[in-house]
Amino acid sequence: MADILIRGADTLVTMDDARREIAGGDIRISGGVIVEVGQNLPENGGEVVHAKGCVVTPGLVNTHHHLYQTLTRAVPGGQDALLFGWLQTLYPIWANFGPEEMRISAMIGLSELALSGCTLSSDHLYLFPNGSRLDDTIEAAHEVGLRFHPTRGAMSIGESDGGLPPDSLVEAEAAILKDCIRVVDRFHDASDGAMVRVGIAPCSPFSVSRDLMRDAALLARDKGVMLHTHLAENDEDIAYSVEKFGCRPGQYAEDLGWTGDDVWHAHCVKLDGQEIELFAKSGTGVAHCPCSNCRLGSGIAPVRQMRDAGVKVALGVDGSASNDVGNLVAEARQAMLLQRVQNGADAMSAREALEIATRGGAAVLGRDDCGQIAVGKRADIAVWDVSGVESAGCWDAAALLLAGPTRVRDLFVEGRQVVRDGQMATIDLPRVIERQNALARGLMER
Ligand SMILES: [Zn+2]
Repeated sequence: MADILIRGADTLVTMDDARREIAGGDIRISGGVIVEVGQNLPENGGEVVHAKGCVVTPGLVNTHHHLYQTLTRAVPGGQDALLFGWLQTLYPIWANFGPEEMRISAMIGLSELALSGCTLSSDHLYLFPNGSRLDDTIEAAHEVGLRFHPTRGAMSIGESDGGLPPDSLVEAEAAILKDCIRVVDRFHDASDGAMVRVGIAPCSPFSVSRDLMRDAALLARDKGVMLHTHLAENDEDIAYSVEKFGCRPGQYAEDLGWTGDDVWHAHCVKLDGQEIELFAKSGTGVAHCPCSNCRLGSGIAPVRQMRDAGVKVALGVDGSASNDVGNLVAEARQAMLLQRVQNGADAMSAREALEIATRGGAAVLGRDDCGQIAVGKRADIAVWDVSGVESAGCWDAAALLLAGPTRVRDLFVEGRQVVRDGQMATIDLPRVIERQNALARGLMER
């Protein structure tokens, strides 16, 4: 791959260890890696991308999503329901999905993320109806060109066992563990610069048994992969844990091996002071999903308190059925605003929210090779055009989340251009949208 020089950014927001912001900043990329950062770097015959009128940042990192849900956005029966009711509306629709629904919906969700500045996304897929597999989403990520951390989710307690999902969407626990081993062995890449890393992710403590939670943790440690699930999302969730398990979610997680720097939990809206301490002490990460929490009325996660206590916090757009968009830079702005609602206007700056969206995400996913613009890091870079109407009159372009665009001009992943001039450069997106809408119509008519 030829060298690329990104040249003359109005402001280069590095998010490096010194949090440098460089006026007229340049970045040289070679072999997918950042090899030089500075000003007035000489051209050496490689491709030059002019970034005048732009702010350049590290690519954003999305740590919680259910990509398949892009096929069930704004479903009428679920638009105004609380979490458990919302799930019960959508489960029967999801039961009709198959491999093509999984692949196309993942391409849509990942493209939406890419256009909003995301270079690395995780996904939490926990239902596998009609022959669909984790492989379908990995294929989609490969086509779109994003760095991808799919997690093999699972549900094993169906309606007939007192669970929430219909029996057709749950799997036997032995089969779940067997397929976890298959996908880790087949796809997980532990090396620097890996484009795919697999995690293990039972859907939530209320959709699998205590045994499966424990076995999943043992398997993940044995394979050296990460663990992910939903935790402490809302009041119903806490009440369920206290009633069924006799303890709060933090205690349940700790008892079953679900704390540590190889674990991250989605939401954590209702963590109490002790649980925040536990997460900080154990290095357990949190995927904060502000739009989803607003959308489902779950509450405001104590992100300020978590950050002050030393908890690793990252961002997640969550599934498109509970957001219903998947725009990651908009999610970062929402995270900033929501902390201000709870704690005042000085509770979170635009720069801190951008840090959570970049470095924060990389730290939660265990990627010390991503999340900042520094020599030796992978070339995952977002170029934001701040010459447009959203930024006109702006005094501080690096405060991107206060007055910036919600779509990138260019996006590079591992040095490869995924978005060019605001359009997907890797796939024929209009064709994929057409197919997605046809699949959605098919699901509506069933
Ligand atoms: Zn979720």
